Amino acid sequence: MTTAAEPADPLPVQLAGLPRVELSDPLFISDLHLNAGAPATLRRFLQFCAGEAAAHAELLILGDLFEYWIGDDTLDDDTDAVSRTVAAALRGLGERGVRVYVMHGNRDLLLGARFLRATGAQLLADPTVASIGGRELLLAHGDAWCTQDAEYMRFRASVRQEATQRQFLSGPRAARLAFMGAARAQSEAGKRAKAMQIMDVTPSAVDEALRASGQRVLIHGHTHRPAVHRFAIDGDPAERRVLPDWDFDTDPVRGGAIGMKDGELVDLPLAA
Ligand code: MN
Repeated sequence: MTTAAEPADPLPVQLAGLPRVELSDPLFISDLHLNAGAPATLRRFLQFCAGEAAAHAELLILGDLFEYWIGDDTLDDDTDAVSRTVAAALRGLGERGVRVYVMHGNRDLLLGARFLRATGAQLLADPTVASIGGRELLLAHGDAWCTQDAEYMRFRASVRQEATQRQFLSGPRAARLAFMGAARAQSEAGKRAKAMQIMDVTPSAVDEALRASGQRVLIHGHTHRPAVHRFAIDGDPAERRVLPDWDFDTDPVRGGAIGMKDGELVDLPLAA
């Protein structure tokens, strides 16, 4: 390249490559891991939908809304009241004028078209660039950057293939439930065996994603390590905000959201 471009401007291919969403007054959450075994967390989410979230223009769920999701036919399962309760709450937000966006997490990457119709939510690609009143940031679940966990990265690549998903979803529901139970048990055992830094995002992978997208601010979940990390990329100040996971069923309770106040990102802790 002989022509110099303004360093702040992303290349056209980068603009074209990433989906974008326009927001005005968003609230970001992730990693609620809703399931029948966590009734207080579900109650807090319903309260959140009627309260905090309803006061915003947009609710963005950046992955792992559910502890697991084995297919949209979960909505037909009479033994699973959680999915329909959550769907109704999201639909209710839409009826109150709140736009709802859902990103796939690693636990619920099978949330599909029927779930979106039932909730009125829009699916967000991972990652997506959000534009909010002139400022931009990158949104992601975060698991794609846990690159030191080679075993997980292989698994992730496999389950994001169309053929793998089609085959899994074509199986009987009981078989899918059994598979998910085994996978969760294996994942828990693996977590105990893996070093702590392997379970976190790789800083260089995050830097690379920010450079490639032309962004310097990022919000993600997945790691359950809520924090604001400030660092530099090519001399620019950069910021990585990690969303908290939710658990209102064990003491001390935890959970929270990220919102905006006076044009700045702010943490919104949620009391029980
Ligand atoms: Mn996750």
